[in-house]
Amino acid sequence: RGTLYIVATPIGNLEDFSRRAEKTLREVDYIAAEDTRHTRRLLNHFGIEAKLFSIHDHNEKDKSEYVATLLEEGKNVALVSDAGTPLISDPGYHIVSFLRARGLTVTPVPGSCALIAALCASGLPTDQFFFAGFVPAKSKARCDLFDSWKTQAGTVVFYESTHRIYDSIKDVASVYGDDAQLVLAREVSKTFETFLSGTATEILAMFDADANQMRGEFVVMLSFTQESGDEKELEAMRILTILLEDLP
Ligand code: SAM
Repeated sequence: RGTLYIVATPIGNLEDFSRRAEKTLREVDYIAAEDTRHTRRLLNHFGIEAKLFSIHDHNEKDKSEYVATLLEEGKNVALVSDAGTPLISDPGYHIVSFLRARGLTVTPVPGSCALIAALCASGLPTDQFFFAGFVPAKSKARCDLFDSWKTQAGTVVFYESTHRIYDSIKDVASVYGDDAQLVLAREVSKTFETFLSGTATEILAMFDADANQMRGEFVVMLSFTQESGDEKELEAMRILTILLEDLP
């Protein structure tokens, strides 16, 4: 029986495409792609000829059966998305769970993923993190979600598009004030790669000063300055001691 390979593709810089990813796409019988025209451009760049078919959010459940049949016939199939690692805010979950439930073989060919690339260079805690995918488009739902993260340990990471980045950061400011440290990773691995750090209010000021900072693709990372009750009390005592020293 064949194998479904989950193949990561670059998130910007084509040099991030791994040798194993290239070899896998060259050797499989079929490539299931989120957008076949988009993937064709990548394949052309590497001189790979392949039989492509599309798998996207709307046909994934139907195509799962088809891929299962191919694997049972002994064919190998690769799954790719437009950029980065399939299934990470991209199609593929239904097909992988469907194949696994049938005892078929699914194997990853690891590579670029915007979340991991952004987090590892952010300077925010990496020992624990929570990935929220894309956040809701409507402000009320978004604020409710942000509010639910108040007790989240480690760094919270989400994906955001250029169209909504300003409004999302505005909502972060309204929910957290200055209690969250943010890092925005923009255009990772591309020409205009930028990391912006600060509170939400500071980031909004950077956007207001230079609208170019709102262009491109974003990974937003938040880390909460959660002082425990004890720490707050100690800090209050420390300030009181300093003030008392200065009093006549
Ligand atoms: N599967 C992809 C991955 O492995 O990261 C993510 C796909 S998701 C549809 C696209 C979102 O990922 C973008 O809206 C952006 O938030 C983030 N993203 C993708 N490439 C990026 C990059 N080069 N720099 C920053 N964020 C990126």
